[in-house]
Amino acid sequence: MKEYYTTIGLEIHAELKTKTKMFCNSKNDPDEKQPNVNVCPICMGHPGTLPVINKEAVKHVLKMGVALNGQLADFTEFDRKNYFYPDIPKSYQLSQYKYPLVSGGELHGIKITRVHLEEDTGTSQHEGDHSLVNYNRAGVPLMELVTEPVIHTAEDAVNFAKELQLLLRYIGAGEANMEKGEMRVEANISVSDDPKKFGTKVEVKNLNSFRAVERAIAYEVERHTEALEKGEKIVQETRGWNETKEQTYSQRTKEDSHDYRYFPDPDLPKLYISEIPEFEKDVLEKELGELPWAKRERYKKEFELRDEDVEIYIQSPEWGHYFEAVLRNLGIEFLNQFGNSIPKDRQMAKLASNYISSDLLGLVKKEPEFWQKKPIDDKHFAELIKMLGENKVSSRGAKDILALMYKEGGEPAKIAQEKGLLQKSDEGELKTIIEKIIADNPKVVADYKAGKEASLQFLIGQGMKATKGSANPEVLKNLFKSTLG
Ligand code: ADP
Ligand code: MG
Repeated sequence: MKEYYTTIGLEIHAELKTKTKMFCNSKNDPDEKQPNVNVCPICMGHPGTLPVINKEAVKHVLKMGVALNGQLADFTEFDRKNYFYPDIPKSYQLSQYKYPLVSGGELHGIKITRVHLEEDTGTSQHEGDHSLVNYNRAGVPLMELVTEPVIHTAEDAVNFAKELQLLLRYIGAGEANMEKGEMRVEANISVSDDPKKFGTKVEVKNLNSFRAVERAIAYEVERHTEALEKGEKIVQETRGWNETKEQTYSQRTKEDSHDYRYFPDPDLPKLYISEIPEFEKDVLEKELGELPWAKRERYKKEFELRDEDVEIYIQSPEWGHYFEAVLRNLGIEFLNQFGNSIPKDRQMAKLASNYISSDLLGLVKKEPEFWQKKPIDDKHFAELIKMLGENKVSSRGAKDILALMYKEGGEPAKIAQEKGLLQKSDEGELKTIIEKIIADNPKVVADYKAGKEASLQFLIGQGMKATKGSANPEVLKNLFKSTLG
């Protein structure tokens, strides 16, 4: 078999979070269950109505542009994209053709062509011999981002889409839930036997989950490769994705852009973005807050956390906030701009992170209801970590205390006291116990003195037993060693 080269370019649509629709005062509410209530003469395209541009939506896209390090438009306008379908009441969709709000930029190492703003369509529902249409979504602000054809694997395509979803959520531009259709991916795929030439591309539309993106691309790459092997030609077309069959299917041969008869909408004003003070780059930048990749860097550099831990805090900012609240309670400076936290702080931060990511999240996953009802106070969690760091409880003890705190609440020091989980590190008290163990086990002691290391473990075990597990094994070990010389 020859060698084949896959090229992928993505077009991703995301509904923006705004109070009202893109060009009118109708509510933008993705959760509205009642059909056709968030509509008005403007989004229904009645004659004589005039659209008004939604500033909030423009701002979301410009902020995306700044985050992606793209070029913000000086001048921009909206164009009519003319086509007929029952879900677009105006018979055209307002979009941007020549002058997108953002050009260029990069995300996750992938070059972006453009980001523009348009309006969403309504939704249709096909029932046997008739169809229903709901216009609640018609006119909702929709961002479209187009990448360059520079992706080569399904996995990279999925990772790109995940990172974009994260960014949309971070900057508050949208929820981007794929299962709700708030973010929709179209994948353009081509396969060639010549690394210097693109193959014929097909576009797979309406991929509504990351899994669908992954599977659809894999399916197409295989289909193209098989066809090329047989010497067959690939037809340039738009394809759909059948979720149950896990197959793509031909929908239509693709129309060219001239079929849409794009022209600037005469009812809307042109925008000179660079002349609007609140759209200045510096102003937008200040509003962005910490971006996911900056946060990732900070956690890695400051605390040398494991990648998996960092990703938990990046993907679920609520856990990121919890982690930071615990650190604050531990008195750890975590916003050190110089990235030089002291080693002891770093140790404690790592310890806290380990207990959050493995133990606490383990409990939350198993029995989420307790967490939903009453999460462990970050102050109490920090106290537990402090006790552990100071060897007042063993790691076994800390896990037991945590489990109790999880279900019943309470303060860790109190629980440790009540359950006898405080480690005995008081050498005077331990000394008496150790001397008795040595007197009771002459044979083992002799073995140890003769060089048998395992004997020491046995003695420590006896010490743990005598103290009902409350001794600190490290302290015991040192005491046995020093006593036996
Ligand atoms: P069209 O005019 O068919 O819409 P565009 O040039 O606008 O094509 O590109 C649309 C998308 O297709 C972009 O994401 C782009 O990266 C991608 N694309 C373009 N050419 C190819 C190709 N040969 N293989 C895969 N993707 C491609
Ligand atoms: Mg296109």
